[in-house]
Amino acid sequence: MNRLLCLSFFFVACASPAIVVPAASAVARTERQAREVELCVLMQETELRPLSMGVAESTSAKWKYAIASIAVKHPAGLLIIDPAFGESIADDLHRAGPFVMAVMGTEHTKTPVAQVMEQAGLHPADVRFAVITHAHWDHTGGLGDLPNARVLIARAELEWTQPFTRFFEGGVMPHHLKRAKERIFTYDFKGPAIDGFDGSFDVFGDGAVVAVPMPGHTPGSTGFLVRGKGGVTWLFSGDTTWTFRGVEIPAHKMIRAFDSDLPALSASIGRLHSFLVNRPDVKVVPAHDGDALAALPRCDAR
Ligand SMILES: [Zn+2]
Repeated sequence: MNRLLCLSFFFVACASPAIVVPAASAVARTERQAREVELCVLMQETELRPLSMGVAESTSAKWKYAIASIAVKHPAGLLIIDPAFGESIADDLHRAGPFVMAVMGTEHTKTPVAQVMEQAGLHPADVRFAVITHAHWDHTGGLGDLPNARVLIARAELEWTQPFTRFFEGGVMPHHLKRAKERIFTYDFKGPAIDGFDGSFDVFGDGAVVAVPMPGHTPGSTGFLVRGKGGVTWLFSGDTTWTFRGVEIPAHKMIRAFDSDLPALSASIGRLHSFLVNRPDVKVVPAHDGDALAALPRCDAR
């Protein structure tokens, strides 16, 4: 089936829920001390698509769609954000069924995160920590391939996945989480609010990698602030929007079938937009925006 035609089944004809943009006074800049760390991108798939598939905007512009993981080299050990595709990618796609394959394509355009790591001289067994922006299958496939990684997941996100029993349910492939079951630890956002986000969780306790809540796409969706070398801060905002354009306008996705709570998502997109306006020094990177990801060094560019 034609993939564009197939995706059109997901279009939601109703108007987008209004996006609530907080007042500037509510999103004062949060200055914070943070350790600087090296980070790089592990690109696993890219494809040129119409931007209008990624954001609710009538445009003829192109979207460099991407699926990727981020490697963070912290003194406590290597951390991977969103280990996307696992070695099981072919099996994952085929077992999920023809509809998923019609939307996502085949395994032939996808490289598992472990393989991209090896190409970059990074070894999956050396990964000590893994975090996810959310539990959807295209952000968790490699968890089982990082055998020595502690997996840190927002409590609300893990709890949301707990009733799932089917192979593919709510955008989640529960076996991805089961494969890492003994290594999963949950956290809450009990740290201070940062730049308009309601709370925080400092992964290493030194400000290098700080999780902030972005509920809506899924209940426990999470953004990660990472302080790079030279004082550059990055915000990995997951699938709150698929594209940087969605943050910039601000606007919802064109396809909203996998957004679990639209009012909560509207508020998160609003906060993200305010963050972009208030923190022009921070680079906001939505998970599927290939151009935004391209601002990072590639781990395999040696
Ligand atoms: Zn995704």
